[in-house]
Amino acid sequence: MPNERPPAVDRLRTLPKAEVHAHLEGCFEPAVLEQWATQARVPMPRPREHLLEFEGLADFLHFLDWACGLASTRERLAELSYGYSRRLADGGAGYADVIVNPTHWRAWHGRLPDMIDAIDAGLSAAEQDGLPPVGLCVSLLRTQSSDAAIELVDALLALRHPRVVALSIDGNEAAAGRTGPRFAEAFRRAGAAGLRRTVHAGESSGPQGVRDAIELLGADRIDHGVRAIEDPDLVGLLVDRQIPLGVCPTSNLKLGVYPAIEDHPIDRLRRAGVVVSVNTDDPVLLGASLVGEYALCSQAFGWSDDVLRTLARNSIDASFANADVKARLAQALSSW
Ligand SMILES: [Zn+2]
Repeated sequence: MPNERPPAVDRLRTLPKAEVHAHLEGCFEPAVLEQWATQARVPMPRPREHLLEFEGLADFLHFLDWACGLASTRERLAELSYGYSRRLADGGAGYADVIVNPTHWRAWHGRLPDMIDAIDAGLSAAEQDGLPPVGLCVSLLRTQSSDAAIELVDALLALRHPRVVALSIDGNEAAAGRTGPRFAEAFRRAGAAGLRRTVHAGESSGPQGVRDAIELLGADRIDHGVRAIEDPDLVGLLVDRQIPLGVCPTSNLKLGVYPAIEDHPIDRLRRAGVVVSVNTDDPVLLGASLVGEYALCSQAFGWSDDVLRTLARNSIDASFANADVKARLAQALSSW
């Protein structure tokens, strides 16, 4: 029951925080895509003002291929990466882990080092301009084979790029089925070599997906994880081990996981002692902003300043930022 007025959006912007669940593939601005399409003499699938109006999943995936295909040069991929950091600054975030899934980027297939280097160039330029630092989580796809997953991890470990902070896995678990066992070896290798591990589960999968993420993939963090609420023992496990969930309320509403924010379990999970944070998932494609996510929850659940501080603190602690960045953000938060 809301017990005070929702804090103004401007005030939420000043809340020191991090973002731990967003995809680079979800950051394509229609105006930028139009410009790239014109330069490449590639037709737009529809006019710019309707570009993000998808007619179902097949259309969405087709769009993703098209957009990732346009980001085929180092300059464009760097520009996209820079734009994400600027978006973070707009939302008052001081750090983020961003996910990129190489399987979507056909123009870069077979050139993983060049692809990471291009993203790094954009993120480094952003940092030099005073924008927030961003770590990269390189993602497997749920429908990949075990061999392809191990190949990617071995390539990452050979590269040891300082920008790469974690191994991730995303994709539709409802379509892929139970795949925890298939990816266990890839995640074991990543963990043994010191990469952090973040796993999409408990969105298109139920509680079993979250359990597999913990027990088979050694997840340091779960992306979504909200359907853990369906299994009280699993909620207990998340609390005992303090495994954080990177929750994306607007994404869950737009993709039909929950019908309305009032039905969303983020506040029940929080009150049960689970470490939750709020995030945008695919900010441009879903029309979500970090401040907007805080405002949405704050209004729906009547979050006090203390709750907002806890959520922001969770986002900082759950991030894979280095100790200096975490300490700086925690210090800023203590005086909010
Ligand atoms: Zn996601």
